[in-house]
Amino acid sequence: MRMARTLRTAILSGAAIVCALVGSVALVAQQETRPVKLEVDLREAPRRIYHAKMVFPVKPGPLTLLYPKWIPGEHAPNGPIVDVTGVKFFANGSEVRWRRNTVDLYAFECEVPAGAETLEATLDYLLPQEAGTAGVPSASAQLAVLPWNLVAFYPQDTKSDEVKFSAKLRIPAGWKFATALPVTKESNDGIEFETVSLTTLVDSPVLAGAYMKTYDLSPGQRPAHWLHTAADSAAMAEALPEQITMWRQLVAETGALFGARHYRHYDFLLALTEHLVPNGLEHHESSDNRVQERTLHDADIFETQMDLLSHEFFHSWNGKYRRPAGLQTPNFQEPMRSDMLWVYEGLTQYYGVILAARSGGWKPEGLREYLASTAAYLNDRPGRTWRNLEDTATSAQILYGGRSEGNSWRRSVDYYDESTLIWLDADTLIREKTGGKKSLDDFCRAFHGGQSGDPKVVPYTVDDVLTALNGITPYDWRKFLLERVRSHGPGAPLDGVARSGWKLKFNDTINEHQKSVEAAEHIVDTEYSLGFFVHYPGGDNADEIAEAVKGSPAEKAGLTAGMKLVAVNGRKWSPDVLREAIREAKRSSNPIELLVENDEFYQTVKIDWHEGERYPHLEKLAGAADVLGEILKAKAPAVK
Ligand SMILES: [Zn+2]
Repeated sequence: MRMARTLRTAILSGAAIVCALVGSVALVAQQETRPVKLEVDLREAPRRIYHAKMVFPVKPGPLTLLYPKWIPGEHAPNGPIVDVTGVKFFANGSEVRWRRNTVDLYAFECEVPAGAETLEATLDYLLPQEAGTAGVPSASAQLAVLPWNLVAFYPQDTKSDEVKFSAKLRIPAGWKFATALPVTKESNDGIEFETVSLTTLVDSPVLAGAYMKTYDLSPGQRPAHWLHTAADSAAMAEALPEQITMWRQLVAETGALFGARHYRHYDFLLALTEHLVPNGLEHHESSDNRVQERTLHDADIFETQMDLLSHEFFHSWNGKYRRPAGLQTPNFQEPMRSDMLWVYEGLTQYYGVILAARSGGWKPEGLREYLASTAAYLNDRPGRTWRNLEDTATSAQILYGGRSEGNSWRRSVDYYDESTLIWLDADTLIREKTGGKKSLDDFCRAFHGGQSGDPKVVPYTVDDVLTALNGITPYDWRKFLLERVRSHGPGAPLDGVARSGWKLKFNDTINEHQKSVEAAEHIVDTEYSLGFFVHYPGGDNADEIAEAVKGSPAEKAGLTAGMKLVAVNGRKWSPDVLREAIREAKRSSNPIELLVENDEFYQTVKIDWHEGERYPHLEKLAGAADVLGEILKAKAPAVK
């Protein structure tokens, strides 16, 4: 998964049950191979309702059907059970009453009547229109994403690799669709898919919409790579030629990096709409990417999503093929252990960024601005004094849903951005110790490469990671990594920035990446001067203080998230008025006065700050080689 950077809150098939009763082996095996027939109807997706009907092969007696709870890649028990409605079971032509388990609300229990060989189950999934405590929006008036876990039950005490599903899908008239799931038949009656395991089904979402485009990202090559866009308008579904060139280079760069691919074909699904929440979710053979409608045609928004596709694509190797043992679970009810997300998400974050540069998306100066903004905020926040990076990973399941307010003290899912610094540290260290002969690329090739072929999972432990690193360069990698993920500071791990030939510096010129984030997300970020974020007037959360960084001049002066900014130095506030006041204060000994609204009360917050605007950049270390520049160079021949 890749979180939106908003405020930096930013498959064992057919294995038979071992049975001592020789005579019944054939019967058990026969039942195991009978697939669940699943029919999903998206024709009311614009009204935010998905209909599903399942037919389960059953035997008479007690039966419990489960709704998926722990969703791969989401690292949390967040299957949106609250919006599962219309649940009815039928057998032998009659309704079968169910009862919910009183402890596990994801479990529906019933008694299959005598003589029944199948049980039919129905459900209607009600899609939220806004992100809330349960589920996320997945459809707009013009497009829909179908993660199959939203509309499927499966029998208790089964492995998702072993339960087979034959799915059929109906979409609104005139809509197109794309998915990595192999299609066997397409007609006016619907789309029929190959029978696959429940694991593969959930791993293969569908993107459908009125306005869709498909681009070939590896023409004439096998395996094939496709980009499928769906937008709320035809124009916004069109990618620019330079974007296609960049993503073709991305495919080539992963070939040069890993030397192997663990999928039969790869489908980037890209939904462009204001009505879903920006996000990316990785799968073995596809990725479910959701961005703002104008992303492909607005340079600022595109800048904030520069590493989205490279991040999700890298996950096919790191997270899907190779996966921490604690995240490889037999089904969707078994809890996941996420303490190694600093590898799963962290290494992916690092390479998502690096590959976006190697593919030509970020020029070196652009990537340096991105890296400076990441290093600076992590270095600035005091949350690490009580919570180390590893705990942000262990706590992933509660932090994904956390508010942005208070993040400077709570910390958020920092194992993404901070691991960028840690893996840069490791990469530059390997380069230094081997005189530039080896790099973290060699680790990726050794650890994530292997043989090309169909999707499979090869789990790993932290010891496996250490062994593989030692295979590249002998070093005390345990100490190196554990010191960093368990550190309480002070400050972020910046050794890699220095070893790459650069250092963090501040001046009064706005950071280019920050400038794009501010424009795309309608916020002003004064983190390194006054120390707060505020939403633009007029839009969503107008005038609201999104965060007052703990320990900053603004926070010390009494500003806190949730207050509304009214005026600056007696004048109605605007982004320009605020910035001008910060610049003016350099020439004055008077404090900057913010008039703020706290509930229905007004108060003045006086901030004694006279150092002007401050923004982070990377400055070349005198006499040092530009190792970062080497890391960013394309490793594959330029595609045409
Ligand atoms: Zn991710």
